[in-house]
Order: sequence, then structure tokens, then C-alpha cells
Amino acid sequence: MSFMSASEVVTRFAPSPTGALHLGNARTALFNFLLARQAGGRFLLRIEDTDAGRSTDAYLAALVDDLRWLGLDWQEGPDVGGPASPYRQSERTALYADFQERLLVTGAAYPCYCTATELELSRKALLAAGRPPRYAGTCRDLTSAQRRDREARGLAATLRFRVGHGTAVAFDDFVHGPQRFATDDIGDFIVRRTDGSAAFFFCNAVDDALMGVTRVLRGADHLTNTPRQILILAALGLPAPEYGHVSLIVGDDGAPLSKRHGATALAEFRAAGYLPAALCNHLFRLGHSSSAQGLLDMDALARAFDIRHLGRAPGRFDRRQLDAWQKEAVHAMPDADFGAWADAALAMPLDPAARAAFFAAVRPNVTLPADLRTWAQVVFGGTPQLGDADEAVVRDAGKPFFDAAAAAALASDNDLAAITAAVREATGRKGPALFKPLRLALTGLDHGPELAPLLRAMPRAAARDRLLRYAR
Ligand code: GLU
Ligand code: ZN
Repeated sequence: MSFMSASEVVTRFAPSPTGALHLGNARTALFNFLLARQAGGRFLLRIEDTDAGRSTDAYLAALVDDLRWLGLDWQEGPDVGGPASPYRQSERTALYADFQERLLVTGAAYPCYCTATELELSRKALLAAGRPPRYAGTCRDLTSAQRRDREARGLAATLRFRVGHGTAVAFDDFVHGPQRFATDDIGDFIVRRTDGSAAFFFCNAVDDALMGVTRVLRGADHLTNTPRQILILAALGLPAPEYGHVSLIVGDDGAPLSKRHGATALAEFRAAGYLPAALCNHLFRLGHSSSAQGLLDMDALARAFDIRHLGRAPGRFDRRQLDAWQKEAVHAMPDADFGAWADAALAMPLDPAARAAFFAAVRPNVTLPADLRTWAQVVFGGTPQLGDADEAVVRDAGKPFFDAAAAAALASDNDLAAITAAVREATGRKGPALFKPLRLALTGLDHGPELAPLLRAMPRAAARDRLLRYAR
């Protein structure tokens, strides 16, 4: 197309709005976005909504929302427009019809009048004979008289693409290397159904060409569509992009990621409080190896992305790794962002000083918003209840221990150093014998954020009550 320079890299994400955006698609979108970004090219969003029965505007809106939340943006798309508008396939049907007509006129495709029953019988017969169940070619060479006769009988026709015999379609997949598909294994295939709708891979290929897409990076489940798409584009005199097919994402058991591995929709991770940076950094390393260390921002991800490092083996989704990235992402957030994120998670009014002290205390221990709620409960909630073993540890510390601790807490405004000094003085205890009963009495837990800042965040009355409880 005239609007692009010959060397510009143009990639796209082409989802069908028939469900929630899941991790596999999010990764595909991310990779294509990074590929365009690192080359200073264009990334476009195309909506493949030709399946009117399953596509909804709600899914589309959610999809756009999820992609933007992830940090992706596109230079062309249904919401931002662009030179190849429209970007929703449901609005491009006239265009597909036009290209199908061209295939018909040049003889690259022909009307096929076979009924579903006839095709099924032929398929079974071929299978029974141990041959690949390709289209038998019944309508391939009908004369115009034979065609007129079938039309006159009112037979509905599909449009079938004529595939040459005895040759092969070869292409270099930039993930899987050289590919070769024998045309005899492909067989003549349908590009337009009897209801006039176009086959998915037809629209997909035509649009890539018309939109100037130079690189198609997509899931390995589309690898077998590629030879047919290359044939279609060649017949139409349209340029074919370079194709690369990334392996699918699997769960920790090696099976394709699915519901039974838990959350798979991006929105579910979003709702649980995962940060875009955590997801991007984990997805970046699924099926793509990188020596880049640490949490990378979008620019760094774009610089580090390398299509030569896309693996042929499936990428393994690992919740623990995602959590590790999440921890880093929470740690890396600017204070103001952390505050906003934490406020949203807590939905609890806190006075500014307590809020600042609380965030400072718990931040190193927070991976997800649920952790914030847990620690808020510990600090601001009711008096903790201890299990028997912990209760015994605290009781064993004795009344003088907690008398001294409570008095020091009050006098020092919850200063841990003052409290421990007073307790040491009163009881001679030090180390774990001092800290464990203190932490248990104050928090109900034997682990958690550093006690000094946590105590600074705790309301004075609550701290005193929790200590005095054991001074009886
Ligand atoms: N709409 C297709 C899908 O969601 C796009 C495939 C492709 O990227 O070419 O699987
Ligand atoms: Zn036929």
C-alpha cells in the first residue's frame, strides 16, 4: 500500500471478540506490540468479528479495555481509525465479496454445489480407503452448462479455492523455520460458505495484505492455515507477510492452559490485583527466552524482545513466577501509585498519618491487595485470637513482661526500641524470647512485616489493649 514505506515493520493483533481475553492472546498481543515498537513500526488492532453469532460488543469493549490496561496501544484500530479503515471485519464484507469475485473470475476459485451429505460420504469413503479426506474435486471442472444446470435447480454453492496438484507451498516460519506443505494434502478448500460468509482465514489473509501487515506472529494453532493463506494471497496478487507461530502456553502439568489450571482470563488476574508490569514480564518470558534480568518496563521489554529467541517448546505458565514478578512490580511502583492501588484495595478510611505509616510498614510484605487487607485487619482490626501453642508462649512471658511493654508503649507512642528496652529491663529477656511473645500479642502472628514500623502504624489504644490483655 502506498502509505507505508517498504521497510516499515507492521504487526497486528487480530482477536475475535467471542470471549474474554486470555493469557495466550494477551501474550500474542504483547509480542506483536513489542515487535512493532522495537522497530519503530506500527501495531494495529483488527477485530475479527465475522462470526456474528458469537461476537459481542461487550466482549470487544472488554478486550480493548484489557489491552489498554496491559499497557498496549495501537496506531490503527477500530477506536482510533487509520488508513485501512474499517478495522472491524463485520464492516468489511463488501471488500471480501469483491476479492472473492476476483478469484471466481480468474478461475482461481469455482462454485462447488456439493451438499454437506455428499461431502461427508466422500470423506468417509476416502478415510476408509486410507487416503487423506480431501475434497474429491467433484465440481472442479464443471462446464458452464453444468453450472447453469445446478444454478437452475436452485443448488446453493460455496466458493472453493482451486489448489494445484503435485506441488508444495513452502515458507520460512520465523519461529519454526522452513515449512513445506504438499498441495495434495491441502486439497481445494472453501473460501465462501453457501450463506455468503467468508471463511475466517480468507478475511484474515486479505486484511493482512490490505493493512500492510509485514509480520504475523500468532499461535501455533494457526500454522496449518498459513499455506492456504499464502495460496489465496498469491492468487490475488497480494503480498504475503512473514509468518511466525508461537507455541501455546501450557500449565504446570504441561497440558494446554485451561480453566482447570485456575484463572486464565486477563480480567481475572486484573481483578485479583495483579499489575500490568507483572503480567507483561511473565508473558514476555513464556515461549521467549531472554537474558534481560529484572523487572522491565515497556520500553525495555521492546528493546529486549528478540524473535530469534521465540521457542518452539510450549511456554509454561507459572503462578509462582507471576507472583515473584508481582512482588517486584509492587516494590517498583512509585509511592503515589502504590498509595492509589492500596487505597482501592482497602476501601477503608484511614487518617493520613496512619495510612502513611501503615503503607510503609506493610509494603515489603504485599504481593496482592488481599495481603493489604490481611495486614489492615491485623493492624486496625479487632484483638487477634491466638491458637493454644501461641497463647502458651505469650502467657509464659508473664505479667511483668506485658506490664512493662504496655507502659512503655504508652509512654513512647508505640516505639519498639523503647518497649523492648523496658521489657528487657523488667524481665531480662532478649532475642526471640522477647520478640516472639511481643509480636504474637500485638499481631496474633509469628511472622509478618517488620514490627517497629508496623507498631508505629497501629492505633495506640489497640497496642496498649493487646499488651495489657496478657498483663493479667
Ligand atoms: N482471529 C484469530 C484468532 O483470534 C486471529 C488469528 C491470527 O492472528 O491470524 O485466533
Ligand atoms: Zn462440489
